[in-house]
Amino acid sequence: MKSLGYYNGKIGAPEELTVPFTDRGLYFGDGVYDATTSANHIPFAIDDHIDRFFRSFQAARIPFAMSKQELRQLLCDLCAKVEDGCYLLYWHTTRGSGERSHAFPPAGTPANLLVYLTPCEMTPPEKVLTLMTAPDIRHHMLNVKTLNLLPNVLTAQQAVEQGVDEAVYHRGDYVTEGFHSNIMMIKDGALCTPPADNLILPGITRKHLMELAHKMDIPVKEAPITLTELFDADEVLVTNSGALCNRVSHIDGKPVGDKAQDLVKRLQDAYAAWFNEETHSQTFSC
Ligand code: PLP
Repeated sequence: MKSLGYYNGKIGAPEELTVPFTDRGLYFGDGVYDATTSANHIPFAIDDHIDRFFRSFQAARIPFAMSKQELRQLLCDLCAKVEDGCYLLYWHTTRGSGERSHAFPPAGTPANLLVYLTPCEMTPPEKVLTLMTAPDIRHHMLNVKTLNLLPNVLTAQQAVEQGVDEAVYHRGDYVTEGFHSNIMMIKDGALCTPPADNLILPGITRKHLMELAHKMDIPVKEAPITLTELFDADEVLVTNSGALCNRVSHIDGKPVGDKAQDLVKRLQDAYAAWFNEETHSQTFSC
């Protein structure tokens, strides 16, 4: 399966497309992005991701000119061009191109749009993950999906070097999220998550799990979670669009969770069925 790229109207192999030297995404990381998984040429939950992308570029005051409908059409058209299978569908917009000056470029400078489709395999729900804790040294606009990901990149590399799958960022005693996932937990039969403030990304997978829990009469609690509470959870969950929802067996080498497997399985099965139905695919066996 081959990857596909798009930049400001040009479509081609990503390794052949070029981006201008002056794209502000390169100088400043001055852009925002979003990403989902496409299966069977259908991007999952595309409207949720486009809504969040619009919230991101509006917060960043980037003059992105396409309507939601136009962007949706473009992304779906690009998904139709790739071979069968699962793809990461990633797109970002930057505040146009211009000389390196921190303040905005002259009014009327058009935003740039880059789209990238590359084959991926979704993490199966049965996979149980290991985590490490890491102090959250990131900025305070984490509800905006910006390109500024240096701390996340460094933490991801640390996770590779420690042989774990994700991190639990924390500010003091309080859990925020992972470097590319949200962290949730099950406690006393309830699905618990830190609140969607400026210290975490409002994950689409997190939102879907909360919706599913409501439908399944599982109580949902949105409130700060401490590290002590996480270590004491009945289950610790990691959620993101490339994996849906996975249980956690260890944090910093200490065993966690493993006390509400059946409840998690019900949520995973309902979510996998939703994904398969929307993408008319058998991506997950359920
Ligand atoms: N938090 C961060 C920092 C992320 O990068 C991501 C996904 O990219 C998530 C949470 C999960 O978001 P979603 O469920 O929308 O993929």
